[in-house]
Amino acid sequence: MTCLSDSFQRPINYLRISVTDRCNLRCVYCMPEEGIPFLNHAEILTFEEINRIIEVAAELGITKVRITGGEPLVRLGLTSLIRMITRIKTIEDIALTTNGILLAEKAAELKAAGLKRVNISIDTLRPERFQPITRCQYELGDVMAGIKAAEAAGLHPVKLNMVAMAGINDDEIIDFGRKTITDGWNVRFIELMPFTSDGQADARFLPVTEIKKRLDPLGKMEPYKHTVGVGPAKYFRFAGANGTVGFITPVTEHFCFNCNRMRLTSDGKLRPCLLSDKEIDLKQPLRHNISQEELKKLYMEAVKMKPRQHNMNEQTQVKRPMRQVGG
Ligand code: SAM
Ligand code: SF4
Repeated sequence: MTCLSDSFQRPINYLRISVTDRCNLRCVYCMPEEGIPFLNHAEILTFEEINRIIEVAAELGITKVRITGGEPLVRLGLTSLIRMITRIKTIEDIALTTNGILLAEKAAELKAAGLKRVNISIDTLRPERFQPITRCQYELGDVMAGIKAAEAAGLHPVKLNMVAMAGINDDEIIDFGRKTITDGWNVRFIELMPFTSDGQADARFLPVTEIKKRLDPLGKMEPYKHTVGVGPAKYFRFAGANGTVGFITPVTEHFCFNCNRMRLTSDGKLRPCLLSDKEIDLKQPLRHNISQEELKKLYMEAVKMKPRQHNMNEQTQVKRPMRQVGG
């Protein structure tokens, strides 16, 4: 197996796949509350199509796959996709990013199908804040049950993603930090990316330097190097904590210099960079019986299109919503 590198000698070994643009939540930073033009079923890739693309990507060096969305667990039969992927021998790691709502009922079957680990998004620990942030009929208790089920099923390490927002949940940063000490949680603080802004600076944006300051009362953090994963987070640990604190800084400190990933959108476009709208369509070729060799060429072309870096700031906009690209 060759591991393909892009034009800047970065080895590309990680593929993130959005399996649906639909979701059972409407998080304030991700989707409008209503009037969303969702793709219809025929427009999104079938599991067989996704699997063919992963087979080709695996021949070209992809060893790690993450399933995301939209909310991946609203796609029916997701377990069968996991099972298909586990048959590709060179894929070492299959992970899932989810809002956790449906995880309590699905964690065990996902694990049995070959899923290795999960990241769960949780932006508040206060039940009364859950609806204002997610604008849905579910409850914080559903996510907590999902976290417990993931731990019980052995989907380790369970990582918890918190998008920190000024005036919305920034007063809870310290509570999340404390959970790494009291409950062994692995919490990752994510800077808000300006995906749904109208080009104006987002007043909710909080730089990671500020997030770190809010954690000061918990004591000194030591860098932690042993976390499983291939993402851009930097990890730390408080003295005596079993859990870790991670920081993801897409806005204030981009991590493009060692970016190792490609993205597959729910409607079958290979996207070399989250923040660039350049894409290569694989769906039409797949539906016109393209050979594996030709598919390989398209994949290699997309890898070569990967830009050196993005220039996101608080006012960046991209055409595609996060739910189609996969966060
Ligand atoms: N629905 C799943 C979930 O919420 O985990 C997977 C898809 S979601 C798009 C993936 C991740 O992107 C989540 O952790 C979410 O919090 C994050 N995200 C979405 N919009 C974001 C934004 N504007 N800025 C920062 N993170 C964002
Ligand atoms: Fe849905 Fe995830 Fe977006 Fe929230 S962040 S609306 S859970 S896709």
